[in-house]
Amino acid sequence: MNPIDDIAGFIRKNQRFALASHLHPDGDSIGCLLAMTLGLQALGKEADALGVDPVPFAYRGLPGVPLIHPPGKSSRPYDALILLECSRPERAGLEGLSPCPHIVIDHHLSCRPEGRINWIEPSFGATGQMVLRLLEALEVPICADIATNLYAALLTDTGSFQFNNTNARELHDAARLVDYGANPGEIAEMVFHANPPSKVLLMGKVLSTLQLEAQGRMAWVVMNRQAMESAGALPEDTEGIIQHLMSIHSVELAAFFKEDGDPSRFRVSLRSKGLLDVSSIAQGFSGGGHRNAAGFTIHQRLEAGIPEVLEALRRFLSGSA
Ligand code: AMP
Ligand code: MN
Repeated sequence: MNPIDDIAGFIRKNQRFALASHLHPDGDSIGCLLAMTLGLQALGKEADALGVDPVPFAYRGLPGVPLIHPPGKSSRPYDALILLECSRPERAGLEGLSPCPHIVIDHHLSCRPEGRINWIEPSFGATGQMVLRLLEALEVPICADIATNLYAALLTDTGSFQFNNTNARELHDAARLVDYGANPGEIAEMVFHANPPSKVLLMGKVLSTLQLEAQGRMAWVVMNRQAMESAGALPEDTEGIIQHLMSIHSVELAAFFKEDGDPSRFRVSLRSKGLLDVSSIAQGFSGGGHRNAAGFTIHQRLEAGIPEVLEALRRFLSGSA
């Protein structure tokens, strides 16, 4: 049986679901989590949208956000945990949830699915497109609220339909979501034009650390905690900054080193152009992602850990010259 029918069959036969997406949620994670929760509720199912990290400011206006809550002690076991945009409960910060079957719905190339049912399709621009197909298979009426969440997922994960994961199917799905009631202008306004001033201040501080090397093929920036604190910014305010590095014509590979809380570790975001596959570098550091966007965490202090990553990036780039 193909996984979408398998998942639809499982959902029809069961009643009580927990849903979660990855830590540091982005638009696709929040959009999928809400659309799937609203869809299951429309079918008369119990659906608990679990979120360990707070919903980033840009997505707080999406319909259904108040449904997301931190995991607590559940009185009764769930029939299944539906993992969206990730493949393991640890990526969602859900180590302690009582055991139940896992259903994985994800479009990450590098994921290591361990679910009862795994539906992984890296060819989709956004996991939201997979949720759309699943809800249609379940004959859920796609209302404007569901369409809005799925459109936001698709809009953000395709970089406003600019990344090379944007194909005819992505544009076609966007049009279908508009037909279902999503309003592109309003959603773009909410997601991209509602930054707190701290985000723009932080962007200035981070971009001023810009380093270029390898004849301009590689660019990197660093954010330490002091930069975040002096801008009054939150970890979520780093989203989008790395795109400015990619806007430089010569840059093929960009890295962003972020110390966003605990000083004993930092996160690394990678971006690339064309066929350069940064997910392979991320996997080498126990992370993951897509060919042109990937990330991982280094469990060292920022200054101590950066050189090793830069060395790996330089080796990777010289191997692909
Ligand atoms: P980011 O740079 O945080 O926007 O992440 C870029 C891409 O890499 C996204 O698709 C993430 O889901 C993925 N990614 C980031 N960090 C990790 C990680 N630690 N493990 C697996 N995937 C990751
Ligand atoms: Mn995604």
